[in-house]
Amino acid sequence: MSESDKTNFDLVEFYLERSKREDQFQKEKAERPKYFQFDTAGLYNFRIIFAGNDEENIPFLAYNKHSYYEPAMKTGYKYRDTICWDYLIGKDKLVEYLAERGRISRQDLQQYQIGKCPFCVTYKAMLNAGVKKEDISRMKKELRYLFNVYFNGKEMRDGSLDSEKAGFYVWECGQSNFDKVMEPYMREKRKDIDLLDLNKGYNLTIKAVGENKLRRYHPEWDRSPSPFARELEIKDFKALMAIKFIPYQTAIDRIKNEFNVTLTQMQYLIAGDMGTGNTSNENLADKYFSKDGGETKEGIKDKDDIPF
Ligand SMILES: [Zn+2]
Repeated sequence: MSESDKTNFDLVEFYLERSKREDQFQKEKAERPKYFQFDTAGLYNFRIIFAGNDEENIPFLAYNKHSYYEPAMKTGYKYRDTICWDYLIGKDKLVEYLAERGRISRQDLQQYQIGKCPFCVTYKAMLNAGVKKEDISRMKKELRYLFNVYFNGKEMRDGSLDSEKAGFYVWECGQSNFDKVMEPYMREKRKDIDLLDLNKGYNLTIKAVGENKLRRYHPEWDRSPSPFARELEIKDFKALMAIKFIPYQTAIDRIKNEFNVTLTQMQYLIAGDMGTGNTSNENLADKYFSKDGGETKEGIKDKDDIPF
C-alpha cells in the first residue's frame, strides 16, 4: 500500500467544498446590494422592478427583522440588522438556500429548536422583567418590505432630474409606505392596468419631507406611463437574506454583549445558548472522561474486573 492510499478522500473533499462555499459567499458579499438612502428633503423618482422573489411571484419581499449593534474595531459599534429566526424557519426554500451555501448549520437548527428566536424571546422576557420598551426597541421584531428599484433621479428646481446617483438599488420600507405603493397598484391591477409593466408601466415619486426624526415619506405613482428600457440588474431577495443572516450563537452573543448588565440583573439565561458559561464545556468533558472520578472511560471500573 503506497502512502497516498491512506488518504481520506472524503475529508479532503470536505475541506475543498468548504473553501468553495466560502468563496461563493465572499463573492455574494462583494455584490452586496446598494440600499437606497434618502438624504435631503425633496422629490425622488423611481421605477419599481417586478423581480427578486420568484418563489412567491410578488414584486417585493416581506420579512421580519431585528436590529443589533455589532462590536467594531474603530467606532466601537456598528448598527446592523438580521432576520428573525421565527420568520426564517418558516421559509423552507430560504433555509435550503442557506444550507447549500454552508451558512446555516445543523447546530443552528438544534439551538433554534431549544430556544426559538433569541431576539423575540429575550425581548419579551426583558419587557416582563420591567425593562422600558424604548430602551430595547431595536430588538423588537419589525415587519419590513424590500423592492428592487431603479432610481431615476431627484427633482431639481427647474423640474428636471438630477441623475447623478441614478442606478439600481434595493428600497426597504415599512408598512405605511408599502400600503401607499401597493394599494394603488392592486386597484389598477383589478382594472387590468399594470403599473409595473416595463413598457406601459409608471414611475413612482417619493416625496421626502422633514429632517432626521421628523422625516416622513409620501410615495405617489406618476400620472402618465413611461417605458423602462434598461438592461435589468436584479437582486435575488434570498441572497439579501443570506447576507443579513448570522449564526444562532452569534445572535445570542450580540444580545448578551449589548444587554449584559440587564440580563445579569435578571439572572436570565437565553435558551439555546451554547456559549461559555453554559453546557458546552461540560459536554466536551463528558466526551473524553467518565463522570465519576479521574479515570478515563476505558479505565478499570471494579476490582472484580481484575483477572485473578
Ligand atoms: Zn424574532
